[in-house]
Formats: sequence, C-alpha cells, structure tokens
Amino acid sequence: APRNQGLVIPDDWPGYKLDLFTFPHHYSEDLECVFIPHGIITDRTERLAKNIMNDIGDNYITVLCVLKGGYKFCADLVEHIKNLSRNSDKFISMRVDFVKVKSYCNDQSMEEIQIIGGEELSKLTGKNVLIVEDIVGTGRTMRSLLSHIEKFKPKMLKVVSLLVKRTQEGHGYRPDYAGFEIPNIFVVGYALDYNEYFRDLNHICIISEKAKAKYKV
Ligand code: 5GP
Repeated sequence: APRNQGLVIPDDWPGYKLDLFTFPHHYSEDLECVFIPHGIITDRTERLAKNIMNDIGDNYITVLCVLKGGYKFCADLVEHIKNLSRNSDKFISMRVDFVKVKSYCNDQSMEEIQIIGGEELSKLTGKNVLIVEDIVGTGRTMRSLLSHIEKFKPKMLKVVSLLVKRTQEGHGYRPDYAGFEIPNIFVVGYALDYNEYFRDLNHICIISEKAKAKYKV
C-alpha cells in the first residue's frame, strides 16, 4: 500500500456500537455509530508525527493549520512532533499559523476559495510549510489552497490530512500524509462539524438522517 494512503476503512465498515464508548449526552439521539474511536485517532496521529519527523526532521517548519476543522488534529499532531523532537536526535522547530478556508459553495466556480485570516502569506516565501487539514473530500479545496500558497514560493510545501475520502469524482488529490482513508460518507467529531455542531465530540462518528434535519440551517 502506498504510504500516503493511510489506514484504509472499507465501504462496508459498520463502525462501533455507541454504547461501547462515552460521548456527550446531548448527542445520544443524533449518532449512528462511532466510526473511528478517539484512541485510534491518537495512535495514528502519533505514527504520522513519526513519519513526518523521519522525512522532514532537522528543519524549521511553518505549520499552517486549516480552520476550523483542523484545530484538534493540528494541536495533537504538533504535540506528538514536539515529544519526538525532545526525545530523539532529530528536531523540528515549529511555528504555527492559521488560515480559514471557505469554498465558494454557492458559486459555480468551486476552484475559487476564500482565505480568511492568517498572517501575511508572503511570510511563507522560502519557508518549509506543512499544511494540516482535517479532511480531503473531492480535493478541490486543497488544490485551490495549494495553488494559492505556491504563488508565495515556499521552499517546501507538504500536506497532512487526518482523513481522505474515496470520492466518486476522483479529482485524485492525495496529501503527502494521510491518517485514514474513509468511504465517501459524511463524518463529524474531533473538530469536524455539521453546521457547527459535533465539534465537541471526541470520536469521529456518523450522524443520523434525523440529526441532519434537526441541525439543518
Ligand atoms: P473538498 O474540497 O476536498 O471536497 O472538501 C474539503 C472540505 O469540505 C473540508 O475541508 C471540510 O471542511 C469539508 N468536508 C468534506 N467532507 C466532510 C465531512 O465528511 N465532514 C465534515 N464535517 N466536513 C467535510
């Protein structure tokens, strides 16, 4: 298996029954199953940190966290890299910056993205940049972000995404590092939201159709 495929979760994976784990009581009617338990996310993130350290260690890195969904994964990944950096002969010195990315969903031109906040992206010129994203779906968002950042000529530009979907459209974008490859379904939790709900859920879960209607805007 290619190294950037991640842990592959097959299409027929039913997930785990809810009563095997704990989760916020206010979501008890909203979830179908625990798709990826928090502990496995943590363990996989630790290994991604090790791979990143092996590949791009002994460098100064600018970590670019893609908000909002990427904040949990980014914080945990940076923590693991810091631990490795303390406890091995290799180091990674990190600065963390944040960008908020919005696809123009109501526009036909999905290639257009809006980048909100973040320090001047021109500061990335000549830097080693690691983009930390929560999920790559069709890949359109990441492609647009990448082509925008490339204009500022970073020295290195790599992407780590916790999740990558097997999409029908198959734009074929693959991040350099992937935590899990998942079926083309909608997931929430571990900072991934549905209309701002479910960010406070620590597992990655599937929500019920009822919940989709309940929290619809
Ligand atoms: P893409 O442009 O790759 O199709 O979609 C990327 C963006 O859509 C992600 O950054 C994320 O914000 C959102 N997204 C895609 N799939 C999911 C999903 O299953 N759950 C959630 N909560 N957001 C998703």
